[in-house]
Amino acid sequence: MTRPAPDCSRPGGRSRSGGGLLSVVIPCHNEQDVIEATQARLAAVLPGTGMEFEVIYVDDGSRDATLARLEAIAARDPHVTVIELSRNFGQQAAMSAGLAAARGDAIVITDADLQDPPEVIPEMVAAWRRGVDVAYGRRRRRAGETAFKLATANLYHRLFAWLIPYPMPVDTGDFKLMDRAVADAVVALPEKRRYLRSLVSWAGFRHEPVWYDRHARAAGETKYSPWNLLKLAGDAVVLSCDAPLRLTWVAAAALALVGITAAGWATLAAWLGPSREGFTLAAVVAAISLAAAVQTAAVAIVGEYVARTFREVQGRPPWVVRQTIGSAESRVTTRAA
Ligand code: UDP
Ligand code: MG
Repeated sequence: MTRPAPDCSRPGGRSRSGGGLLSVVIPCHNEQDVIEATQARLAAVLPGTGMEFEVIYVDDGSRDATLARLEAIAARDPHVTVIELSRNFGQQAAMSAGLAAARGDAIVITDADLQDPPEVIPEMVAAWRRGVDVAYGRRRRRAGETAFKLATANLYHRLFAWLIPYPMPVDTGDFKLMDRAVADAVVALPEKRRYLRSLVSWAGFRHEPVWYDRHARAAGETKYSPWNLLKLAGDAVVLSCDAPLRLTWVAAAALALVGITAAGWATLAAWLGPSREGFTLAAVVAAISLAAAVQTAAVAIVGEYVARTFREVQGRPPWVVRQTIGSAESRVTTRAA
């Protein structure tokens, strides 16, 4: 079925020169120790943007007191909406749930842990007022991360940008402001499983960096073990491009070369005399093992795509909302799938 592309143009569109509504979307999973501080910093910064604002916290199945604290915040602050997901669906789904609920002319996504300082938001708003559609936070420095994480993140960002068939900025995460039109384009996508960072890049529009220093977590602990990060990285690649499938062609070509070399070597060794038999055997065994390994990897890569196709065909919604608390209560119940 072909769907019409969403029309994100705004003929005679809304002005960005003053006023408007700013939405801030924050995914939260077990953030009880930091959430009050985050709200305090946002409440201090957001009025200075000159926009009306709403803050949407998405509680992603927290098992600590995060939800209770968010409810207390929403009870005293009419700017705050809390969307409680029915279980832990993961950060990507939580961010997407918040984005789908946001009503702003501009929408900021940021983490709950103050690693991305809210004080950068006014700079993003200024860029948006100048006509930038996606003002993304680009990290000048990252405090509180291990050398290993910095090195692997650096390498991964560059590899990812190289693999993806559309421009993808490096040294940037989910902290960004996007115009309503960009959010509409992303929310309208029919795919269920989402890697938001690459979807926002896919959408196009005018992107510009806002440079900032990333801080250490204000409180609590990271929700990502190295293993989880690896899984997320693999998911991001497979969801965003088909390069791994194509790379199996390169592996096949390399293997063919190894096979031809081994066959040549074996012929030569047999011709030169029986003393080379052991060596010949080793070369043959190596070539066969290599071929088996690459074939297994190729099947596994195909399997990754088949598994994701299966999930998309199942068509389950990417998240389920248990309840919505606060100003948007009457508005959002479940996501239109
Ligand atoms: N998060 C979430 N669901 C999860 C894991 C994380 O909503 O399953 C949120 C988390 O509360 C935080 C953001 O995603 O606001 C980023 O997580 P974290 O700070 O642990 O990641 P890191 O910055 O260490 O990569
Ligand atoms: Mg963090």
